[in-house]
Amino acid sequence: MVPGARLVLLGKQGAGKGTQCVRLARHYVIPHISTGEIFRNAVKLGTEFGKRAKEFMDAGELVPDDVVVGVVAERLGRDDVKVRGLLLDGFPRNVHQSEALEGLLPPRGIDLVIDLEVPTEVVLKRLSSRRVCVNCETNYGVDNPPSIDGKCDDCGDRVIQREDDTEAAIQRRLFLYEEQTAPLIAWYMGKDKLVAVDGVGSPDEVTFRLTRAIDLRLRNV
Ligand code: AMP
Repeated sequence: MVPGARLVLLGKQGAGKGTQCVRLARHYVIPHISTGEIFRNAVKLGTEFGKRAKEFMDAGELVPDDVVVGVVAERLGRDDVKVRGLLLDGFPRNVHQSEALEGLLPPRGIDLVIDLEVPTEVVLKRLSSRRVCVNCETNYGVDNPPSIDGKCDDCGDRVIQREDDTEAAIQRRLFLYEEQTAPLIAWYMGKDKLVAVDGVGSPDEVTFRLTRAIDLRLRNV
């Protein structure tokens, strides 16, 4: 893949997006920017901003667009993004955010959006078993449990269930995904920037499909 490429990984929560983003960012050596992770860090630090974001997150609601776009604008202004490109995870989540994003990345906007396709039944099963490292945010689940129960393979810290993985919040997030995020698939397809990848399979299988799809599409960018 070309240096400086700008990628977005789209997908329902529980589609394995976080795990695959970590792997892709390592593979291509590009910054992985997760808006959810930025918010969770602010919550951990106990900032006013974090406290406000937590209310939305725990309810499964989206944080207001102006707040999210402001956070992303600040992050995209840093030098690593200009030099190495980026992989966005959890942003954009609606058409308004996509429009804002194009404005933040002149002149060509995003190069490629990958839609990680996983059926809702599979996602629901995965979300109920999802566990995450409190430190490095590595995701685990039934298909990829940590080698030692409750302990992260990567950094050794604690592996727990996310506070916003309650059943009500999961249902609400899936509803919002269909209502607000799924329309982005057609939006990016209309700009010839979309590639769909089957997200069902082992993490290694899915990573292989993703890198193959990205390399094929970005050969000439
Ligand atoms: P995630 O880690 O991407 O699942 O995000 C966790 C939570 O952070 C979401 O359920 C939202 O409450 C909030 N969030 C993350 N990214 C966005 C975004 N782009 N727009 C609005 N809210 C977001």
